[in-house]
Amino acid sequence: MPDSFSLTLNPARIVFGRGTIAQLPAELARLGGRRALVLSTPSQKNHAEAIAARLGDAAAGVFAGAVMHTPVGVTAQALQAFADVGADCVVAYGGGSTIGLGKAIAWRNDVPQIVIATTYAGSEVTPILGETENGLKTTRRDARILPETVIYDPDLTLRLPVAISVSSGLNAMAHAIEGLYAQDRNPITALQAVEGVRALRQALPRIVEVPDDPEARSLALYGSWLCGTVLGTVGMALHHKLCHALGGSFDLPHAETHAVLLPHTAAYNAAAAADLLRPAADLFGGSIGGGLYDFAATLGAPRALRDLGLDQGDLDRAADIAVQNPYWNPRPVERDAVRRLLGQAWEGTRPE
Ligand code: NAD
Repeated sequence: MPDSFSLTLNPARIVFGRGTIAQLPAELARLGGRRALVLSTPSQKNHAEAIAARLGDAAAGVFAGAVMHTPVGVTAQALQAFADVGADCVVAYGGGSTIGLGKAIAWRNDVPQIVIATTYAGSEVTPILGETENGLKTTRRDARILPETVIYDPDLTLRLPVAISVSSGLNAMAHAIEGLYAQDRNPITALQAVEGVRALRQALPRIVEVPDDPEARSLALYGSWLCGTVLGTVGMALHHKLCHALGGSFDLPHAETHAVLLPHTAAYNAAAAADLLRPAADLFGGSIGGGLYDFAATLGAPRALRDLGLDQGDLDRAADIAVQNPYWNPRPVERDAVRRLLGQAWEGTRPE
């Protein structure tokens, strides 16, 4: 336990469990919502329409245009749809892309948000919004961005494809691992982080074997809630900085980039944060970097940046970008060491 700490807990309402989607109308009424705009990605449109049907008169319409990285142009279209149908709140059905759109709307007009989370990325419990405009990503943190209510119904995740389940589960674990050594860490997020990693450590191999196992899906969603809560409460470090650099400047896919880098960034910080990482390392056989790498391998997760489409010739520039305005990190962020890390992650070799 640290000698001293300060902590702000985010005031979100969490409704968790199989079948909890049935509580959506009551949860909407609880927030005073009368006309919800239901949001989704194009591929989840039919689910969004089913949600709207469930809400009946309390649904004002569906906007199924959410895409990755929350481009402001899409937000402008959604705000227009919001005004056209006379909505007074949003219901976001999906993963980080849809949740990002709901947050972008609420950031601008401060309407209440309900999220029905269907991946493990964790955005639903953070007051963080990343938006893109003209190829540039800006991230802000504000209480208005935090969704008021989150419904976690594992039954809605039974058909989340295994590949997305695995990479998004590793994305969640990355929030927890970085939370363990965060500069503003505290005893509560440390407990949440270890429990979140433990739950995902158990659940993901079971999901790979039996994707529609409701117990494994419940455990994974529970773990992702805890890991997301850590992300929403404390600051992140080198791992998240590298993922943002690679996603923002080289257009690499979000969750997969987290999945590839996590063993390498954990190994980078393993000695500098050995005591803090020990409870997580113990879950992976004692070595956090090698253990996470082996775990990702058993899940069939992507393990090499080259397989995500990054050119080897871009590694120097990636290292340069990654060390500009570095986030606080337990081990100093040194350009040559980061370049070596990126080289290993590009090859997909097991970190030492
Ligand atoms: P996503 O929301 O882009 O979803 C990936 C794909 O899976 C989409 O095509 C979606 O339609 C589909 N999908 C989602 N749930 C499904 C289900 N249950 N069944 C079948 N298909 C389903 O992916 P993501 O990884 O959840 O989110 C990534 C985005 O979230 C990135 O833009 C990232 O920057 C952002 N993010 C933000 C935060 C934050 O705190 N602000 C945290 C994590 C991620």
